[in-house]
Amino acid sequence: MNRVEAVERKGPRPRVLIIEDEDDIRGLVRYNLEQEGFAVDDARDGAEGYESVRRRAPDALVLDLMLPGMSGLELCQKLRAESATHTLPIVMLTAKSSEVDRVLGLEMGADDYVVKPFSPRELVARIRAVLRRSHAQSNSDAGPVYERGRLRMDMGTYEVFVDGRQRQLCLREFELLRFFVEHPMRVYSREQLLDLVWGRDVFVEPRTVDVHVRRLRRQIERDDSKPELILTVRSVGYRFNPEALG
Ligand code: CA
Repeated sequence: MNRVEAVERKGPRPRVLIIEDEDDIRGLVRYNLEQEGFAVDDARDGAEGYESVRRRAPDALVLDLMLPGMSGLELCQKLRAESATHTLPIVMLTAKSSEVDRVLGLEMGADDYVVKPFSPRELVARIRAVLRRSHAQSNSDAGPVYERGRLRMDMGTYEVFVDGRQRQLCLREFELLRFFVEHPMRVYSREQLLDLVWGRDVFVEPRTVDVHVRRLRRQIERDDSKPELILTVRSVGYRFNPEALG
């Protein structure tokens, strides 16, 4: 069962799974999500959370970074590596406000993050935003296929193949790559990419764009230390060069 069917079968109430070992925070998040009409499951650690995801796939996941046993980062990586959950929207909770943790969370495949202490309203807004993007993706028709040289992207199934091998891109990486192939050779600043790919309802730093570009390069470039497809335009932003696809 894919996520579209899951959403339809469960009806209009989106289901969110919270994985957090601190009772107070778990309770606070659960309370606020239920008040907003979400169905909520919860788990106290990564292993229990992983079981919960397998038993009943949520529409979105709120994942604490610091968990006993398997860390939030490890779990995030594990979920991203599996085809059933590689586009599951994940909002990460982090206790530390250091940039390292936030960047690491995004590197490991989280879609967004909030830093503790956070306002429940902010968290709910972010969950709504990731769900909106995810539904917009799932509901779009079997779209066109982009094929050029060694890259093939199926806009309907969100599959990406490079040199005939399927690559696991998270939702945002896919959206970023789609934006690039649809707007070749033009230079976009980080701020423009945030507006056009992330949308104005998401509050992230321009640095986030760099993190996603780096991850995307690892998936699609021949040598990500010498990118030929997604080019850095110094002190401006990025440009996609389809010529290098061959
Ligand atoms: Ca914790």
